[in-house]
Amino acid sequence: MSARRDAYRAYLRSPQWAEIRKRERARAGERCEFIKEDEYGDGPRCSVTRNLQVHHLTYANLGREQPGDLKVLCDLHHKVYELVAKECVRCQESVFDNDSDSAAVELECAEGDLETAMSNAPGLCPYCDHMCNKDD
Ligand SMILES: [Zn+2]
Ligand SMILES: [Zn+2]
Ligand SMILES: [Zn+2]
Repeated sequence: MSARRDAYRAYLRSPQWAEIRKRERARAGERCEFIKEDEYGDGPRCSVTRNLQVHHLTYANLGREQPGDLKVLCDLHHKVYELVAKECVRCQESVFDNDSDSAAVELECAEGDLETAMSNAPGLCPYCDHMCNKDD
């Protein structure tokens, strides 16, 4: 258990974070902000208003989050974001090396097939995967 992770857990229990969550949910109009993008990059916004969660797009400004650091998401779309941000178990780089891979994951999830998307997500980034399978 790292110190950084402990600090993060403590922060999520703080009144300060509760305030920020309230502010973000109000900003989003108490509705999930996920956009079901088509191939042209636009589409309808998710209509879920229940069970909203506030997700960190970046942890760089923890405790003083800037506009754009956070996204209000429903339960399903929170999982989509966590999946797309998945880190390699060896080096902590993103396992998705390009935007089209992560877009494919988003699409699978948006279609409701989270289980498939999760089992298809690699545990290693392309580099580590290559180093573990030195066939080529
Ligand atoms: Zn999250
Ligand atoms: Zn949603
Ligand atoms: Zn790696």
